[in-house]
Amino acid sequence: MLINDIEKVLITREQIKTRCEELGKELKDKFEGKTPLVVGVLKGAVPFMADIIREMDSHVEIDFMDVSSYGNATVSSGEVKIVKDLDTNVAGRDMLIVEDIIDSGRTLAYLVDLFKYRKANSITIVTLLDKPEGRVVDIEADYVGFDVPNEFVVGYGLDYCERYRNLPYVGVLKPEIYESN
Ligand code: 5GP
Ligand code: MG
Ligand code: MG
Repeated sequence: MLINDIEKVLITREQIKTRCEELGKELKDKFEGKTPLVVGVLKGAVPFMADIIREMDSHVEIDFMDVSSYGNATVSSGEVKIVKDLDTNVAGRDMLIVEDIIDSGRTLAYLVDLFKYRKANSITIVTLLDKPEGRVVDIEADYVGFDVPNEFVVGYGLDYCERYRNLPYVGVLKPEIYESN
């Protein structure tokens, strides 16, 4: 069982559910009368995006972008590159970027610059998790699910070596999981 690999649960599935309902309502109001283009940043944002758009109860379009800065390590390389681009033309669109976590802020800063360059009408950011202590670039999300301490977390989309994304909660792995790699 996956729970055996977890040192501690930081955010329970019930807390996530309640927060998604709250954020969904706020975002519905924010985009009143508009059809936002909701962009999920692969792969970590997938569970959060799926939950949040179903709480918005108004028209949205969705697309995905995959950018990489971390590889398979727990420390950022500082570089951002596009692995998969959008299918949608963003010019004139009201965009909602959905992220799993903001750490250094590099990924998000890169995406915001890119979508501004592509002439998006507006850019709103929602992130499940925020790690304010990790920030290197001066950028903030408009909507934050939860703040987390400066620890490597997994679950509800977030991976360690591509695993643990399917945990329905957010937690910290036992140290021996890293040691065995
Ligand atoms: P940033 O560009 O803000 O430094 O990092 C953003 C990306 O790094 C996130 O979308 C996520 O993929 C990864 N990341 C940052 N912190 C963590 C963490 O604690 N756990 C996991 N699994 N990924 C993280
Ligand atoms: Mg991400
Ligand atoms: Mg990752």
